[in-house]
Amino acid sequence: MEIIVKKFGGTSVSDLDHIQNAALRVKEAFEDGVRPVVVVSAMAGVTDQLLGGLKVKTLGADLRENDVVAATGEQMSAGIFALVLQGLGLKARSMMGWQVPVITSDRAGAAEIREIPPENLLKSLKAGEIPVIAGFQGVTDQGRITTLGRGGSDISAVAIAATLKAKRCDIYTDVPGIYTTDPNIVSKARKLDSISYQEALELAAVGAKILHPRAIALAVRFGVTIQVLTSYENRPGTMIMNAKDMKDERIVSGIACSDNEAKVSILGIRDEPGTVAAIFKPLADADISVDMIVQDVSKEDGLTDVTFTVDKDNLDQTLALIEKTKAATDFENLVSDRNVIKLTVVGLGMAGRAGVAQKMFTALGELGINIQAISASDIKISVLVKEVHQKDALKALHSAYGLDKR
Ligand code: ADP
Ligand code: ASP
Ligand code: MG
Repeated sequence: MEIIVKKFGGTSVSDLDHIQNAALRVKEAFEDGVRPVVVVSAMAGVTDQLLGGLKVKTLGADLRENDVVAATGEQMSAGIFALVLQGLGLKARSMMGWQVPVITSDRAGAAEIREIPPENLLKSLKAGEIPVIAGFQGVTDQGRITTLGRGGSDISAVAIAATLKAKRCDIYTDVPGIYTTDPNIVSKARKLDSISYQEALELAAVGAKILHPRAIALAVRFGVTIQVLTSYENRPGTMIMNAKDMKDERIVSGIACSDNEAKVSILGIRDEPGTVAAIFKPLADADISVDMIVQDVSKEDGLTDVTFTVDKDNLDQTLALIEKTKAATDFENLVSDRNVIKLTVVGLGMAGRAGVAQKMFTALGELGINIQAISASDIKISVLVKEVHQKDALKALHSAYGLDKR
């Protein structure tokens, strides 16, 4: 039995017309002799509405009940999708996370998949059905409903592909594949036929929202082959594969942009051992991850400045925690900026090659765009710039690295 998991994102199930179209992709596969297993997201915008309605702070708010509400988006689309498949003459049945079951940890809103016993799914397949699974949701071993975090239905799909040892996991979305950068921002972005797991993971982790980074990490761990493609028509997308199987060698594969960054600067702290540790310890204790740390060179007055970035959602808590270190660090001033973005150039071919960063700095310098912070690893370089420069900076970098489509 050749199983292929087919996951449809929010835009692919945004209304009945889109669902009809997505269902055609499933029917084509079924007629080709494949056993499709469908995973769906909520209709576009529905999860935002469900969670937005909960923003009103209720006394004694129970995050587990938030998950019960958030999970209804996928329940609705799974039911409709199954009905549409039945309308096309196929045998289909919906399955919620608890029916599969997708067993998770009990961390509400950010649960991790622990195990997916394959028996129920295999039974459904053996009965000739197409299971239509509600993504994004799971159940604890105590029977409570959980969700996996925003964009989490990608994780559901890859985990189900792993448990069923599927031939492939197809991720259907609103663009034809993974591009050199977000094609909705840079019109000259080029579709990639293939990309390595490592590059896809780096791009996703630094803000290219095409795939959830945890889905790619799972695919690496369990050897799941992923294809990213459009549900709008029947044509191949981008294959994520092992670097050794890739045909073309390129220095830079793609550029990602994250608008979820906030910059924090602590000015005039004592330049002595232990100060930086005193700042970052409370953040680590609060599970706040910090990126792009820059410390100025020591000045004669024995003071220095430290700048770093955190996720926008964590900014208020970060500032409050740093205020509390004032007695220990004696800083002069604490400032922050939400209007920044992080641009990251990613490529396996960058490792050990000189001049790659310089190209980035020159391209931005020529446009008069100031770089506020830099961080780099073997296969990526990130810079922080003002948000207003997003489009110009991305376009310039895309051209500078020769990625523009011809
Ligand atoms: P879905 O609802 O199907 O999960 P998402 O909105 O999560 O879809 O992801 C698709 C979007 O990812 C595209 O519409 C595009 O704007 C964005 N994106 C960001 N970076 C890239 C990239 N490198 N290639 C393709 N799309 C990208
Ligand atoms: N519906 C969920 C969200 O909007 C999960 C997903 O779409 O992947 O975050
Ligand atoms: Mg998504």
